[in-house]
Amino acid sequence: MGTVYLLHLEKPLSENHTSQHYIGYADRLKERIAHHESGTGARFTQVAIERNIGFTLVRKWHGDRSLERRLKNQKHAARLCPVCNPDNYHNHEREKNNDQ
Ligand SMILES: [Zn+2]
Repeated sequence: MGTVYLLHLEKPLSENHTSQHYIGYADRLKERIAHHESGTGARFTQVAIERNIGFTLVRKWHGDRSLERRLKNQKHAARLCPVCNPDNYHNHEREKNNDQ
């Protein structure tokens, strides 16, 4: 069991790549985030760094890769993001707690 995490970009990577979020999975989150910040974590964050776009870790869940896949497949990371969607954030927290 590791951590599924959500990164929020301060702006989209480009006009053609409008996603402002990255969902990932890590066994050791701190190391993973350090890799993202040094540009070696994923293509997505590498491009963000090349374009001087800042990103922050905005949410994390205890889980495994199946949770990562489930969240990615929902294709609405923005709804999970407390920065983009502060009102929904608390509702999602409640849903999550009911699941457990
Ligand atoms: Zn966001």
